[in-house]
Amino acid sequence: MRKRYASFTSWPQEPLPSVDDLVKAGFFYSGKKTIVTCFYCNGSLQNWGQKDNPMIEHARWFPQCAYARQLCGDELYRRIQESKRVARERTEANQTNTFFLSDISENSNKTTSANRDTPDSQQLLITDEAALSRLVAARLDLPISQDLLSKNFKLSIIKRCYEDQLRLKNNDFVSDYDLFLACTILQKQIQYIDGKKENIIIPSVHMKKMRELIEKEAKEGSEMDSLTNELGTLNSPASSIKTNTVRNIEKEIKDKQKLQSNIEN
Ligand SMILES: [Zn+2]
Repeated sequence: MRKRYASFTSWPQEPLPSVDDLVKAGFFYSGKKTIVTCFYCNGSLQNWGQKDNPMIEHARWFPQCAYARQLCGDELYRRIQESKRVARERTEANQTNTFFLSDISENSNKTTSANRDTPDSQQLLITDEAALSRLVAARLDLPISQDLLSKNFKLSIIKRCYEDQLRLKNNDFVSDYDLFLACTILQKQIQYIDGKKENIIIPSVHMKKMRELIEKEAKEGSEMDSLTNELGTLNSPASSIKTNTVRNIEKEIKDKQKLQSNIEN
């Protein structure tokens, strides 16, 4: 926070929101015009009116910023988002209805009072590595990070989880529990690998080995099949021999019977 105060030394001496309010709302001064940037979400706002409330504008334009949200509290945050929705609906209605000219100008005044530098996306603005490390540092100060540290998660692991999340998803963890899970998984991976390269499982390589093993087993299986087939071919002559023998015996018996009847006759 002291760093944020220090950034405002060249803040223009004009009717603008107080440095106190801007700093408390999470902003530091970019040094250009009236552009201030949030230390937490990296969102920038400018064109301030004297009566603008930095905290409310912060939550209005950067609803994804968890810092702004916790500053406002749930109830105020909800009301800000609700009024934003109503204003947007009114603007949309005005685009097709020219009777509400006064409303249009009212709305456009509101939006120019704190113009966004960014499109209205739900993602964080991470422009470079410096911005990333600043955002990560801001998150490491959070109570949840301190809580994880006290649960024996290493600082390097928590830091790495934030970095990966911000870099890959451009957004915060949905919940503290998601962060906890990410840290747990990363910690387990590191424990399993145990600093040894050969313990690293690369999915593609591992899958190839698995496939080869399955193919080998399948091949051995088919060898077994051909063996049973051979047995099968052996079986058929054997059975034909058997039947021949039976037939011969039957013939012998018949012959004997014939002989007997001949003798009797
Ligand atoms: Zn923010």
